[in-house]
Formats: sequence, structure tokens, C-alpha cells
Amino acid sequence: MAIFDKIGSVTKGMADKAGDMLEITKRNSKINEEKGKIAALKMKIGDYYWEQFQAGISLDDQVMALCGNINEAMAAIEGLELEIQQIKGVSQQPVAAAPANLTCANCGTAIPQGKKFCPECGSPVSNS
Ligand SMILES: [Zn+2]
Repeated sequence: MAIFDKIGSVTKGMADKAGDMLEITKRNSKINEEKGKIAALKMKIGDYYWEQFQAGISLDDQVMALCGNINEAMAAIEGLELEIQQIKGVSQQPVAAAPANLTCANCGTAIPQGKKFCPECGSPVSNS
């Protein structure tokens, strides 16, 4: 009978442990939930000061410096976006311009895009 008592207590111990794990997991997810709230609230505090900075309100030095860093980062983004536009413009230009620049090898007439023969003299257009 003693052996059954022992098995019984081991099984109960495992069940307790599983229950404990569940309770701990529940609390850990609550902790993460609260941490998420803190992060969101800190962002709101940041937005509050950022709006004041943008409105030209003088804030304490540390906040002013941090807002200055945001301004620098925004300027960097603007510069990079401009560079992207330039890269796009440069890479798109040859594709669009190359066919328009084709001229007839025979008479020098500009060949419209997609034409296989010169509209002036009828010479075949080579794309090379
Ligand atoms: Zn021609």
C-alpha cells in the first residue's frame, strides 16, 4: 500500500508543478502586458514633448538635445528619400529615353518607339 501512496504523492506533485507553471505563465503574460503599457505611455510622453518642441516651446536641455537628434534623423531620412528619387530617376531615364533617341542609320530621321522601319525612308531599324 505504501508504494501506491508514494505514486499518488508524486503524481500530485507533478500536477501541482504543472499548475504552478500555468500560474507563472499567466503572471508573466500580465507582466508583458504591463510592460507594453509602459512603453506606449513613454512614447506618449515623447510625443507630448516633441509637439512642444515643434511649437517652439523652450524645454530643458536634455529634451532639447533629444529633439534635436530627432530633427537630425528626419533630415537624414529626407536626404535618403531624395537620393532614392534620384536613383529611380537615373535608372528609369535610359529605359524611357533610349528608344526615343533611335535615329535611322540611312537618313537620320528620329524613329518613334516600337517602330521596326524608318517612317521616312523605310530602312529597317536596328536596335544595336
Ligand atoms: Zn530613314
